[in-house]
Order: sequence, then C-alpha cells, then structure tokens
Amino acid sequence: MNTYLSRLAALELAEPIYVVGMGLAGRSALDVLREAGYDATGVDERSEGRHIRTAAFDDVQWSEAATLVMSPGIDRRRACFADYFGTVVNDVELFACLVDKPVVAVTGSNGKSTVVTMLAEALNAGGTRAMLCGNIGYPVLSALINDAPADVYVLELSSYQLECCPSLSPDVGCVLNVSPDHLDRYDSIDSYAAAKERLVIQSHLSILNQDDAYCVAMADSATNVAWFGAQTENRVDDQGIYLDDALVLKHEALTVKGRHNLSNALVVLMMLNALGKLNDQAYQAVSTFAGLPHRMQVVAEVDGVSWFNDSKATNIGATQAALNGVDAPLILILGGVGKNQDFHLLSETLQTQTLRGVLLIGTDNHALSNALDQACIEYESVGTMDRAVSRAREIAQRGDWVLLSPACASFDQYRGFAQRGEDFTQLVRGHGE
Ligand code: ADP
Repeated sequence: MNTYLSRLAALELAEPIYVVGMGLAGRSALDVLREAGYDATGVDERSEGRHIRTAAFDDVQWSEAATLVMSPGIDRRRACFADYFGTVVNDVELFACLVDKPVVAVTGSNGKSTVVTMLAEALNAGGTRAMLCGNIGYPVLSALINDAPADVYVLELSSYQLECCPSLSPDVGCVLNVSPDHLDRYDSIDSYAAAKERLVIQSHLSILNQDDAYCVAMADSATNVAWFGAQTENRVDDQGIYLDDALVLKHEALTVKGRHNLSNALVVLMMLNALGKLNDQAYQAVSTFAGLPHRMQVVAEVDGVSWFNDSKATNIGATQAALNGVDAPLILILGGVGKNQDFHLLSETLQTQTLRGVLLIGTDNHALSNALDQACIEYESVGTMDRAVSRAREIAQRGDWVLLSPACASFDQYRGFAQRGEDFTQLVRGHGE
C-alpha cells in the first residue's frame, strides 16, 4: 500500500464516514478513504454512483455517521447539520495529517490561481518539483497519493476549504486580499475574512497585504509576518517590482499586464525567497509567465478596438482590479449572479472611468442596475452575450477597450466562468454568430 494510504489508515478515523458532496474534492476523498480501507460512503443530493447515496440532505440521518468529511461546496450552516455532534473535517485536514513535505498555501478573494500557478511554474523551472493542488489542479488527497514525486505542495485554498482543517500548518501562507464575495455563504464580510484568517493563525510565516485593511487586522494572529504593499520594502511602483527595497524586476521584463499582476508576481518572489528557492531560473519563469485564460486576456484587436476577456472576475474586487489597469475609453460588460454583493462599491469605481458604454448581461441584475441608477451611470440591459458583443461592436470607436469583467458569477447562463469567457471569445472572433 502507498505510504500515505497506510498513514491514512493509521489515523483510525471514526467510522462510518460520510463524505458530504460529490464534487471533485469529495470524490477524491471518498476514493482515497475507501482505498485506505475505511467504511466510507459519499452522500450527494444529485450525483449517483458506486458507494454514493443519493438523497436530499434533509432526509439523511447524519447522526449515523461518526465522521463527516465536508466538501467545500456544502454550506455547513444548513439546518440539517445543526444537531450533528460527530467529527467534522475536510480533505485538507486529512492531507495535513499525512503530508511530510513543505506546504505553501495561498488564499484571498482574487489572484489565487494566478499566484499559485506562477509559483509552481517558477519552482519547477528552478528544479524543485512542485505539486499544484486544492482549488486548482488535483484535489489535495489525490495530489498526495498519486505516484508523482513532489518536493513542495502548492495549495490554492478558498475560504470554504479553510473552515475545517485545524491541523494544516503551512510553511508559508499568504492572504492576497479580502473583498466582498460569497456573501451568500457567510453572514458578513467579517465572517468571510475570519475563515481566511485561519490560514494566518496556522502558518509558520504569513505573507500579508499591507494595503488591505482585513489583512492588516489579521496580522495580530500571525506567528511571523512578511508584508507587501505600497509602503513596505516589498512593493510595486511605476518602475517595477521591489524586494527588500531593491528593484528586482522591471515592468517591461514581465509578460503579465496590470498592476494587480505585478503584485501577484511580487508575492510569488516573496514565497520563493521564503522557501530559499529564488534562483535565476525562477526569476525567468516569473518574467515569462503568460497569465491564465479568462483573466485580463487579450482576445482580439479589430479596427483599433481591443477586446479583453476577464470572465474570471466573478466579484467586485476583481473587476475593480481590472478597471485599475484600463487607460482607454471603455465598454464594460457586466452582470450575472450577484451573490448579495454591494454594487455601490463598483459604481464608485466606475465613476472614475471614461465609459463609452455599460452593457448588462444575465437574468437578474436588479441590485446591479439599482446601484448604477443611483450613481447616474448609464447602461443598457442587453441580456445575452451575443447581444452584448454586437452592441459593443456598434458603439466602439478606434482606441476603445471592450472588457468582459462581469463582477458576478455566471451560473444563470453558463456552466461556469470558463464557458462564459469562451462564448465571449468566440463571438468576438466571429465564430459564434
Ligand atoms: P482566484 O483564483 O482568486 O479567483 P484568479 O487568479 O483566477 O484568482 O483571478 C480572478 C480574477 O481576479 C481575475 O479577474 C483577475 O484578473 C483578478 N485578479 C488577479 N489577481 C488579482 C489581485 N491581486 N487583486 C485583484 N484582482 C486580481
């Protein structure tokens, strides 16, 4: 048996175990637990399959399980879990009990995937085998038990994944930023920030954003802090990236664009430094990192108009970061599932832009349109992406930018942000009509 599976068996988790939610992480946990010999069953309201019980959660006798392994997609506040008194963990907790290599973990409202991917690429380029896992790449348990050897585990963690993993103790933990998001799953932004603060409490070194009030407040919980931000020795300015007050990478040396991406690269350099892995090859990999699809990606330049796909901007903070980097008259495509966000924050940022047009897609933009009305920002509710792209073509002038950065989730019209971004890209490039 694989060493990690033997160790998992040796944890002697209380049985029976119910793995709640059969998304990627849940399925991985179920498979790994069963391989280790546990009496584990998956429970899901829709998915069916071997060792999976398909049932409405309200109809399940949760007290029959001695351990619940919660998936990140499941809201633990649901009434059916209120009277459960057994052990509640998640896959990250099991990973943390087994892992014997350095762990770097990154959370934040925006920038996680970009940062962890850049970090993993830089580590690999520099000769350290990095395994990317968590909210991106493999679920953590699959990453651990697959046979590919790793020197460092690089984890992207959402706030949900930080909720029940008290044994996680990363060598380096980073909170990039906190802006309103997932307020359908948290009672307030403070409780959302508190979930992210778990990472600071549990990490040996915390890399924190001094320009973010929530990150500053978290520092009191940290063992060791390394700061980045405008007033610190680790910062970004018009020249480039500074590490310990030295200009280490100039703007033009980087492939990624936008202030927020420079800040992402800075964080990656700090993490490499903390791991003792900041070598020439790692620098080179950071410089040439091309960014991820659906994040401020140039999809076309037609008749002097630049079209950008930032479909991954599923919250206000991400759209604000995108707007920060815009230096042309703008046509902005917004809308979708609003997740109870306060769109007044976004309309304040929009008031500082030169707007050619604001086009709303999605089926329920009541909160968004109210906020725009109150700020006297003109918009057109076009409903669908094809109408948004056609309308943008009609009104765009040479030199303009057209930006899909919706500040909302996409589930009212798409399977996810990637499908939304692909639809936009195809329509812009003329294949979707
Ligand atoms: P996450 O994994 O946290 O969702 P991504 O790297 O996928 O982060 O980027 C999500 C969105 O946030 C994109 O629209 C991207 O342009 C934007 N973004 C990336 N980095 C940052 C940052 N440091 N601050 C704010 N927004 C960012």
